[in-house]
Amino acid sequence: MAGIYIHIPFCKRKCHYCNFYSLASSRYFDEVIDAITDEVNLRKSLVSKETIESIYFGGGTPSLMKAHHLQKIMDAVFTHFSVADHAEITLEANPDDISQEQLHSFKKNGINRLSIGVQTFNNSELQYLNRTHDAEKALKSIDMSRKAGFENLTIDLIYGLPNSTPETWNKNLEITRNFDIPHISCYALTVEQNTAFEYFIRKGKMKPPAEELFLDQFEALIDFANTHGYEHYEISNFCKDKRYAQHNTAYWFGKPYLGLGPSAHSYNRTSRTWNIAHLKKYIEGIKSESPDFEREILTENQRFNEFIMTHLRTKWGVGFSELESGFNKSQANYFFSKLKKYRNSDLLVVSDGRACLSPKGIFISDRIIADFFVEE
Ligand code: SF4
Repeated sequence: MAGIYIHIPFCKRKCHYCNFYSLASSRYFDEVIDAITDEVNLRKSLVSKETIESIYFGGGTPSLMKAHHLQKIMDAVFTHFSVADHAEITLEANPDDISQEQLHSFKKNGINRLSIGVQTFNNSELQYLNRTHDAEKALKSIDMSRKAGFENLTIDLIYGLPNSTPETWNKNLEITRNFDIPHISCYALTVEQNTAFEYFIRKGKMKPPAEELFLDQFEALIDFANTHGYEHYEISNFCKDKRYAQHNTAYWFGKPYLGLGPSAHSYNRTSRTWNIAHLKKYIEGIKSESPDFEREILTENQRFNEFIMTHLRTKWGVGFSELESGFNKSQANYFFSKLKKYRNSDLLVVSDGRACLSPKGIFISDRIIADFFVEE
């Protein structure tokens, strides 16, 4: 079982917090789509023996693709891979791109899950983030998607915005509940390198986000989830009726995936590769049948640390039998000796052969996870 990730590196403009590889221009759009289509064939051996269980269009802004772009990529994927009948096929869409025409194209081309980049339903927060849509458009995009038959919806929300308040955050959650959105991904605002926010903070034009605000809003989010039937199945992800994001869950469980497009990462259980984050060089590499990517063979310790990090972030935690079968004795023993330290704490819960973060531990997950890492 494997997944395919397709990176569409174009946006209408850059959001102030974003450091994903994307350009606020549509120059080379057609060329990149052609190159991605060719890359499917050139790099298919990475996961060609596996059935494809999930396909994910991320970016950038995949909803900027025209119907023929999407069709071209889907045709190539279905030609070269064995895609499961029940495969989850997700496309990230910005609210202002969602039109009847686009929804029709998504349906026709096999998209069965939409991830809508709402971020917040508050106009001043949207402006602060430099998003291109407003709250009305966000509401409308959800309504239109539903009416077009997209029941499998997820929205992204950002908490901890310096100009947010408990009221604006609660309002976001209330709207989510009113729409009965089956899945939400909620991310704490982080200030990344090479973003407008990082620049504003450096120049003293913006205050760094306050940790207290994150914690308060994260707590409100967890209360909301518990009250309204959302399962908190990964630090940033919540769903109803077990509608776990199949693609992301496969990442967390260490399944292989092929990443297509500039800057996309791939993983085949022993190594990780990442495509060059440069449009022209990416296109040239594909044209000359010599894709431009770097490769890293994972050491045993890197594999162990990734396993701990991805598993502890989920509600399923670290399973002891999986740990013992996937790693050597000294690594497993190292984990168990660390675990002893938490025996009398209320930060981890150990039961049924698994160790998971407790409701209290979730608030300091980064610290706990890092404590289990083996140093290289
Ligand atoms: S957050 Fe999304 S829409 Fe905004 S710049 Fe980044 S990739 Fe583009």
